[in-house]
Amino acid sequence: MATTQISSERLDAITSTILQPTAANGVQGRTAVFEDVIAGLTRLISRYRPPGAEVLRFPPVMSRALLEKSGYLKSFPHLLGCVSALTGTEAAIRSLVEGRADGQQWCDGLAATDLVLTPAACYQVYPIVAARGDVARSGTLVDVESYCFRRETSSELGRMQAFRMREYVCIGAPETALTFRERWKPRAEEIATQLGLPFTLQPASDPFFGRAGKLMAANQVEQALKFELLVPVNSEEAPTACMSFNYHQDHFGTTWGLRTDGAVAHTACAAFGLDRLTIALFATHGLELFAWPQSVREALSL
Ligand code: ATP
Ligand code: ZN
Repeated sequence: MATTQISSERLDAITSTILQPTAANGVQGRTAVFEDVIAGLTRLISRYRPPGAEVLRFPPVMSRALLEKSGYLKSFPHLLGCVSALTGTEAAIRSLVEGRADGQQWCDGLAATDLVLTPAACYQVYPIVAARGDVARSGTLVDVESYCFRRETSSELGRMQAFRMREYVCIGAPETALTFRERWKPRAEEIATQLGLPFTLQPASDPFFGRAGKLMAANQVEQALKFELLVPVNSEEAPTACMSFNYHQDHFGTTWGLRTDGAVAHTACAAFGLDRLTIALFATHGLELFAWPQSVREALSL
């Protein structure tokens, strides 16, 4: 689909008017008009909910032990945020926060708690499903959403530290999970077309940590485990990943002991970056909702 470069005035207006910047990079307030679009996207994506999918919504924190077990620290330690809290006696805490502890800042008294900030919505799902016993032959489907946190260092529009991720997750036999992922590609294109977004669908890799991570990323592309639907926002050359379609093979199945039909279950997910899709919509169609194409407003029931 042909596109034209989005003006820097429009991008600036999204950054400073449609979103409200705060003192923290990548942490923004959402305005009413932004939330109206998020609600529209939520309705549209819900119309694609796979029949029988269980709906689960999560707060933005999860168990640290579960995240450790999921292998996140091996792959993305640089993106993780951990909840820490002050510990110690009342007197010790008081002297820290009142700046009376010799040479110590209040932050020096922090200790990690049993919570981390959720980095991806689907991490919460696997241990819950595993605790219920074997997965039915037909597979298990979950519709999950969570605010997610990633310690992103770039401040480009759309790369946030805290953002909403909606996902459809499939747990089942290898062919069930892979078929689910494959079916989501044309559906994603259909959604992007309804939204009037210029896009490409491309093989992709996760931002794995360190030098070994480069190899993991290359393997991921070679095995076609991840695809992203990209929309030009900041530039045509570096379009923004607004949806991703992932086949995890037996990674979560082995980790959590998920089994189906006497074998380890495989998993797949279709993930929608709600904030990024909203930014892409404002970037593509402009700042005034009433001036958006009628078909786009209808798709969003706006
Ligand atoms: P990227 O390649 O841009 O770093 P990712 O591949 O790490 O993204 P996923 O882990 O697949 O992203 O996350 C699922 C979806 O969540 C993405 O397709 C994207 O729309 C959204 N998302 C990921 N990171 C961010 C972020 N920092 N800010 C806003 N949305 C994000
Ligand atoms: Zn996922």
